Amino acid sequence: MDTIDTLTPGALTAGLPLDVLRDSVRGDVVVPGDPAYEEARRVYNALHDRHPAVVVRAVDAGDVIAGVRFARDHALPLAVRGGSHAVAGHGTVDDGLVVDLSRMRSVRVDPAARTARADGGCTWGDFDHATHAFGLATTGGVVSSTGIGGLTLGGGMGNLARRYGLSCDNLVEADVVTAEGTLVTCDAERHPDLFWALRGGGGNFGVVTSLVYRLHPVADVLGGIVLYPLDGDVARRWRDMITDAPEELNAIFVIVLGPDLPFLPERWHGRPVCGLLTCYSGPATEDEKILGLLDELGPVIGSLMERMPYPVVNTLFDDELPPGLYHYWKGNFSRDLSDGAIDVHMRYGRTLPSMESDTAIFPIDGACHRVGPEDTAFAYRDASFSAAFGTTHTDPADNEANIAWTREYDRDLRPHTEEAGYINFMDTDDQDRVRANYRQNYDRLRAVKRRYDPGNLFRLNHNIEP
Ligand code: FAD
Repeated sequence: MDTIDTLTPGALTAGLPLDVLRDSVRGDVVVPGDPAYEEARRVYNALHDRHPAVVVRAVDAGDVIAGVRFARDHALPLAVRGGSHAVAGHGTVDDGLVVDLSRMRSVRVDPAARTARADGGCTWGDFDHATHAFGLATTGGVVSSTGIGGLTLGGGMGNLARRYGLSCDNLVEADVVTAEGTLVTCDAERHPDLFWALRGGGGNFGVVTSLVYRLHPVADVLGGIVLYPLDGDVARRWRDMITDAPEELNAIFVIVLGPDLPFLPERWHGRPVCGLLTCYSGPATEDEKILGLLDELGPVIGSLMERMPYPVVNTLFDDELPPGLYHYWKGNFSRDLSDGAIDVHMRYGRTLPSMESDTAIFPIDGACHRVGPEDTAFAYRDASFSAAFGTTHTDPADNEANIAWTREYDRDLRPHTEEAGYINFMDTDDQDRVRANYRQNYDRLRAVKRRYDPGNLFRLNHNIEP
């Protein structure tokens, strides 16, 4: 049998009328053998080393329509990619067609209406930059290279979530290329069923070429990181503090190996520590009070906190997380983060397998709880915490051991958490948790799926089967 290394360029595309596709696409149509192919086929997570037959690098909705129709007409598995950060590697596929939106990156802010229309391939870096010029922002990812598309469609947790809700709660309109290859605009009045499903239902319903978000006045924030020795008491104090803290305060609890950075004394470098990725978007007059809250959680061993423009707080960890690393993650929701769950996090925190690996527990209370569990597809409105944990490493030789470590961590944590976790933190092998993730909304999501994608063309995702 031919392996991918022995295939001649053209083998994957044999019989496909690529000239027809090229005639209808203004962006790039990249196939094996093209100089751009190696780069075009890769996604952020190096664990997913796939060889698509065709990558359509779209520049507009017309290109997306052409790509979707071509995949459908030629029965090619279809992957959709924006920021390419899906840990589960859903943005690429062997022998199929990838619609890549990464050339569609424009953002138009309407400061009077306090909204922004962004192309489906924007990253949060693109978005934050554009809205910050107007002193406005919305909830988005804490790493600037993450795509707005995948993050928002799955829910969207970030530094403004306790104050302004999930990213999907701030979505007010979307243009979607459906499986039929037609463009539908949806919002609360037009195609409300689709609009409901998009807000948490992931990439199941079509390719979103344009998203309109509600914006809020946020310019400068108190942001940065505070580190403590790894200790369950720090986690417990954080859990109790954040639940009562003003909603302007976001503090993501992390467990990492102490970074080799000047703000942390050398004796902590490479040792397990815990900390808070912090963003306080309230008035600067309250900064001292907020710093006081952080100081009370335990002995501070390193701190780098200052006032900064809001977009900067979402770039602080970009350099530690470049594309091309190997990632395997799991996610779990919890209502109250029990002492049992904290014990498990501490136990695995002590054996973190690499400098790049981490546990991150996002608080998702406050405004996220003020949206009803059936108002959007995102069902877990009673969870106050969403944990992402797993391994990130540089050497593929570590894949097997690190994946096994993450699975054991997940197995030991499950008795202490909800049945489901955030789909955007789940991995490829979590398909059996999709129904639990959507709880009471699952049947309604299936009905929407049957209406807009009865043939399950969009199935490379945490799939809602029609
Ligand atoms: P892609 O791989 O491009 O897309 C992921 C999937 O989403 C696709 O397979 C497709 O099904 C769908 N999709 C993407 N764009 C579109 C579109 N325009 N139309 C239709 N479907 C689309 N999550 C958070 O909530 N908050 C965080 O702060 C956060 N930080 C992260 C940091 C890092 C370093 C990483 C790797 C992930 C982070 N995540 C975070 C998880 C993130 O939400 C998911 O990885 C998400 O899928 C990323 O979206 P993307 O567009 O970059 O990914």
